[in-house]
Amino acid sequence: MTKKLQEKLTLSSKNVWEEINEKEREGLFKLNEDYKNFLDNSKTERKATQEIIRRAEAKGFISLDEILEKNIDLKTGLKIYATNKDKGVVLLVLGKEEITEGLNIIGSHIDSPRLDLKQNPLYEDSDLALFKTHYYGGIKKYQWVSLPLELHGVIIMENGEKINVSIGDEEDEPVFFISDLLIHLAKDQMDKKLSEGIEGEGLNIIVGSIPYKDNEISEKVKLNILNILNKKYGIKEEDFITAEIQAVPAGKSRDLGLDKSMVMGYGHDDRVCAYTSLKAILEVENPRRTSVALFMDKEEIGSVGNTGMESNFFENVIVDLVSMKSESSFSKIRKIFTNSMALSADVAAGYDPNYPEVLEKRNAASLGHGITIVKYTGSRGKGGCNDANPEFLAYIRKVFNEKNIIWQTGELGKVDQGGGGTIAYILANHSIEVVDCGIPVLGMHSPYEVVSKADVYMTYKGYKAFYLA
Ligand code: MN
Ligand code: MN
Repeated sequence: MTKKLQEKLTLSSKNVWEEINEKEREGLFKLNEDYKNFLDNSKTERKATQEIIRRAEAKGFISLDEILEKNIDLKTGLKIYATNKDKGVVLLVLGKEEITEGLNIIGSHIDSPRLDLKQNPLYEDSDLALFKTHYYGGIKKYQWVSLPLELHGVIIMENGEKINVSIGDEEDEPVFFISDLLIHLAKDQMDKKLSEGIEGEGLNIIVGSIPYKDNEISEKVKLNILNILNKKYGIKEEDFITAEIQAVPAGKSRDLGLDKSMVMGYGHDDRVCAYTSLKAILEVENPRRTSVALFMDKEEIGSVGNTGMESNFFENVIVDLVSMKSESSFSKIRKIFTNSMALSADVAAGYDPNYPEVLEKRNAASLGHGITIVKYTGSRGKGGCNDANPEFLAYIRKVFNEKNIIWQTGELGKVDQGGGGTIAYILANHSIEVVDCGIPVLGMHSPYEVVSKADVYMTYKGYKAFYLA
């Protein structure tokens, strides 16, 4: 009897693995195979954009440009995509209700912390050729030495031609490397603070060591690299100035653990939420309210710039759609935002038994315990965060519970232990009801991060439930 009462009154967290049957487990593993594939094809925001569009087009999504050009009827169930400068995408599935009744939005970001090549990167020192870098997003610099790196990006030629660069993700291609100091001579380095042991200007990538055959000139190794690049891409040194090239950890994502219950890979933050919300919206047919999936750039550096969430990209897409129905008025657009609900789909800090001191266990999210709702993030007393309204939290709880979604709550560390933030507060700037809702990660922003497949699965189901509610 007492046990029954305890079950009835006490809040208890369920483990997904213990709740699902064999068949569901099979589907869960299959979903994660597809996720690893997505992750491996999406190592930069540009590559993620291409992968998202490829998958969307295969499911019948039509570009907004084509819809405007051919004046295609905006009927219920129409699937639309729009791209923002090749670094961001929005997908929409038109609902049965007028869009002025509001949208159901899931917003994620597809940029991840990495090393960007500087605009003038190539130099030679001591018969080695190296690239200078400037890191992007929050990283621990010491983690980026002593590991294989790939290079991905674009070079825009003077005539506007765009050259895609992608080196290191095929077996027969070389990788790149930043050296750490040998332990034998590291006495001074080891005495430094962790934040100073490897410095930003020390993150120089080794790219070559063979001198160009010549007896007259200096910097022959550099010339040899330039010559290789010229033969491969037709570029010269000046073309780096109009390039965006990123160094990211090399290799594919892998199963983690003897039971293969987890995925280790680069860029779960935030491509795991991009993948699960993509998977969800690709399965939406004729929803009641219009479904929207946002895949944004620049979140890791503050969502600023014309490809970040702060830009008007999303608003402009909506203006285009409303104008087609010849009802364009600014108040109508504002009404749409005001009536909208959003999940800010970003990863949460998973409870890590190796570092129990930074998370308060009762309020932290656990791996394998389902989609994670985070009411607030920020730092130093919720500074800079979106503090979700309890009325909206209650609605989400109801939606999840009705569909038997296993969910939990999380927070970004103990009070004053640090903090962070994501795109929620910017969606909130449009008067949209929004809460952070995603997947717990171990080792966030490390070269390789870890998520539970169970949470990938439950988050996809949770996002789909939100779209269809
Ligand atoms: Mn993120
Ligand atoms: Mn992040």
